Amino acid sequence: MTNIKDLIKVQKNFFYSGSTLPLKARKQHLKTLKRALIEMEDEFLQALHQDFQKPEFESFISETGYLIKDIDHMLSYLPDWVGRKRVSGSLLSFPSKSYIYHEPYGVCLIISPWNYPLQLAIAPAIGALAAGNTVVIKPSELAPATSAALKNLAHKYFTPEVLAVVEGAVPETQELLEQPVDYLFFTGSPQVGKIMMKAAAEQLLPLTLELGGKSPCIVDKTANLKIAAKRLAQGKFFNCGQTCIAPDYVLIDKSIQDQFVDELKKHIHTFYGDDPKKSDSYARVINHKHWQRLVGYLKDGHIEIGGEFSEAEKYIAPTVMTNVTKDSPVMQDEIFGPILPIIAYSDESEIVPFIRQYSKPLALYHFTTNKKLRESILKNVSFGGGVVNDTLEHLINPELPFGGVGVSGIGAYHGEYSFKTFSHEKSVLQKSSWFDLPLKYPPYDGKLKLLRNLFKIS
Ligand code: NAD
Repeated sequence: MTNIKDLIKVQKNFFYSGSTLPLKARKQHLKTLKRALIEMEDEFLQALHQDFQKPEFESFISETGYLIKDIDHMLSYLPDWVGRKRVSGSLLSFPSKSYIYHEPYGVCLIISPWNYPLQLAIAPAIGALAAGNTVVIKPSELAPATSAALKNLAHKYFTPEVLAVVEGAVPETQELLEQPVDYLFFTGSPQVGKIMMKAAAEQLLPLTLELGGKSPCIVDKTANLKIAAKRLAQGKFFNCGQTCIAPDYVLIDKSIQDQFVDELKKHIHTFYGDDPKKSDSYARVINHKHWQRLVGYLKDGHIEIGGEFSEAEKYIAPTVMTNVTKDSPVMQDEIFGPILPIIAYSDESEIVPFIRQYSKPLALYHFTTNKKLRESILKNVSFGGGVVNDTLEHLINPELPFGGVGVSGIGAYHGEYSFKTFSHEKSVLQKSSWFDLPLKYPPYDGKLKLLRNLFKIS
C-alpha cells in the first residue's frame, strides 16, 4: 500500500474492529516479529554492515539479539500487565470498586533515527503491539539498507493493517504527521524533536520524544582507572561513537588525567590494533556530512590518541583530546562520533556547575569508589538515566525506564514502561446501587459539619 492516507485509514478500521485487543492476538504479533527477526537476521546483519560497516558482534548485541530478548521479556510478562487493575477506593464513594483499564491508543506512528536503525524502529513497535495497537514505522533514510530490510520485514510477515513501514525522508514524514494517528513515538535529535512536538500540538497528539544531548562521564580520583578506561573506551567507541547515550565528554580530576590517558591508549590499542581502519570491530561514520562535521572538531584540542581520518572510507580513528575549552565547537553540540574530549577539574566542586551549563543530559556516567561524591552527583544532577562504574548498560535492563528529561526527552520505554507508554490508563469507578450515601445530596443543611469531621478538617 503506497498511499499514506489510505494506510492510516485501513489501520484505524482494523483497530476499531477490535482484532488487536485479545491477549492471544498481541502475543501472536510479537511471536511473528520474533520469527521475522530470526529468519531475517542475516539480511539485517548485512544491511547494517552496508549502512556503516557495523561489526556483526555489535549488530547482534544491540540490534537483532537485543530485540529478540526484548520480545521474550515482553511475552513473559505481558499477561500480568494487560486487562484491568483493581485499585483501592474511597469511603465517600461507598459502595464501589475502582479499576484502571490499560487501553491501546490505536494507530501508533514510530519515527526512528539511523544510528541503531533496526533497534530503534522495532523496540517501540514491540511495546505498541504488546499494548494492542497497530504500528506504522518511518525508518531513517540515512540507513537505506536497513530501511529497505525493515520494509521487507513488514511486507513478508505482516498485513499492512497491523504493521507497516513507510520509507522516506522529510516529505514522507511530514505527510505522516498530518494524518489522524493516535500516538507519536519519535527518536532523534532535539532539533527535529521540536518539529515533532509542533506537529503533535496541531492534533493534541500524545507523544514520546527520545532525544539526545551531551552525556558527561565523570572520573574522580578514587576510580579504578584501569577498569574505568576500558569500560569508557568500549562505551564511547561502540557503534563508532554514534550512540545517543555514548559518553560525550570526560570530566576528570587533574591529578589523574595523564595516567588515565595512558590507560585509554592501552585499551584502544587492545580493542582495535595498530590501525583501527583495518579492524573488523570498528564501524564507520554514517555519511559524509557527519564525517565533515566530526573532522572539524579535531582542531578543538590537543590530540592524545587517534586523530587520523579518511573521507573515502568515512573513517575517523578512535580519538581522545585534551586541552579543550568549554567554548570550542566540540563542547557546544552533541558529538555523536568517535571523538572524546577530556576536561580536567581541580576541585570536585566544579563538577555539578560544569554539567549544569548544558541542558539536562540523556545519560550520566561516574567512575568512583567515593560513596559521598557519588550520591551528591546523583542527587544534584538531573539526567535521563546512567551507570556508576560502567557505561551504556542501564539501557539493557528492561526493569529500568529508558528516556531523557527536558531537552534529552519526554517519556520513557522498555519492558513494562513500553507497555505503559503505548497504553492509556483509563480510570473507571464502578458503583453499586444497593446503598446510596445521602451525604452528598442537597440540601446541605448540617452536612458540612459532618463532612469536616469525616475529613478531620475542622
Ligand atoms: P534526526 O532527528 O535527524 O532524524 C530522526 C528522524 O526524523 C528520521 O527518521 C528523519 O527522517 C526524520 N526527520 C529528520 N528531519 C526531519 C524534518 N525536518 N521533518 C520531519 N522529519 C524529519 O536524528 P538522527 O540524525 O537520525 O539521529 C541522531 C539523533 O538522535 C541524536 O541527537 C541522538 O542523540 C538521537 N538519538 C536518541 C536516542 C534515544 O533513545 N534517546 C536514540 C538514538 C538517537
